Amino acid sequence: MEGPVCQVAWGCYVLLAISIGAHCAMSSDNLACPSTSDLRTQPVAALDKEGIGPAMTSIPMIACSTSLSEHHSGGSGTNKNKQMVEQLQRYGVISSKKVVEVMETIDRALFVPDGTPAYVDSPMAIGYNATISAPHMHATCLQLLEENLQPGMHALDVGSGTGYLTACFATMVGPQGRAIGVEHIPELVASSIKNIEKSAAASLLKGGSLSVHAGDGREGWPEHAPYDAIHVGAAAPEIPQPLIDQLKPGGRMVIPVGKIFQDLQVVDKNLDGSVSIRSETAVRYVPLTSRDAQLKGY
Ligand code: SAH
Repeated sequence: MEGPVCQVAWGCYVLLAISIGAHCAMSSDNLACPSTSDLRTQPVAALDKEGIGPAMTSIPMIACSTSLSEHHSGGSGTNKNKQMVEQLQRYGVISSKKVVEVMETIDRALFVPDGTPAYVDSPMAIGYNATISAPHMHATCLQLLEENLQPGMHALDVGSGTGYLTACFATMVGPQGRAIGVEHIPELVASSIKNIEKSAAASLLKGGSLSVHAGDGREGWPEHAPYDAIHVGAAAPEIPQPLIDQLKPGGRMVIPVGKIFQDLQVVDKNLDGSVSIRSETAVRYVPLTSRDAQLKGY
C-alpha cells in the first residue's frame, strides 16, 4: 500500500519539481509545491527517510542535490560547511544568527559516513535503516528551538542518530547547560560519540554537559528532565506522553507526527502546564519505533 501511493505521489512531485526548476529541490513530501519565491522565505519540507518505497530512495537525492552542492566545488571542509550554511541563508531557511553560528561551528562532514557527500541538502543513509537528516531540516529544527537553547538550558535529542543535532544543542546551551541524546541503536550511539569527539563539541562531551545514551527515546530521559527543548528525529504515530511530561513549562518540543503523511509539530508547554500544538510543515522522517521493527525494515 505504502509503496504505490508514495510512487504516484513522488512521480507527480518530481514532475512538478522539474517544471519549476531546482529551487524546489529541497521540498519533498510537500506535494503542493510552493512557488520559487515562497521557497526563499519559508522553511521547506524534507524527505528525512530512505527506503520505505522503492521510488523514495533515489529521487529526492537527485532533486535535493542541485541546491547546495553546486557551490561546493573546492575549498576546505570548513569552507564547504560555511558555504552550505550561507546557501541555506540565501534560500531563506536560516534567518537566525545563532543558528548560522552553530551550524558553522559543527562541521557536518564529521557526522556523515565516509564517502557520503556531506554538504548536499539531502538525508543520507547512516545504516540500521536510519538517516542523518538533511541540512535544511536540521536548520529548521534548530531555528524552531532557538529560544529554548539558551546558555544553561536543558535539551533532549530523541533519535540522536549521528549526534549532529545533539552536538549543536550542546554548543548552544554551553557548559552550564545539558544536552542529552537518546538513540536505540547502540552502534549508532558509539559512532555518534566518536563523531562528537572529532567535532567542536568534544570538550562539552568531555566536560559532561553533553552525553549520548542507548535507550528507547519514547520514554524520554527522566534523569535530566524537565527539558527546555526536546527534538525528536523520527516520526511518532502520536506524541509520546513521557516526552510531554518531561517538557518544562515554557519549554518547546519539535516532533514529526504521522505515518505516511507527517507534520512537523511544534509543541509548546504553557506556564500553567497546558500544551499548545501547531503544525510547522509537512515532512518525511523514519519512524519512531522499536529497535526490532527498525532493524527488520519496519
Ligand atoms: N537526527 C538524527 C537521526 C535521524 S534518523 C541525525 O540527523 O543524525 C532517526 C533516528 O531515530 C535513527 O537513528 C533511529 O535509530 C532513531 N530511533 C527511532 N526510533 C527510536 C526510539 N524509539 N528510540 C530511540 N531512537 C529511535
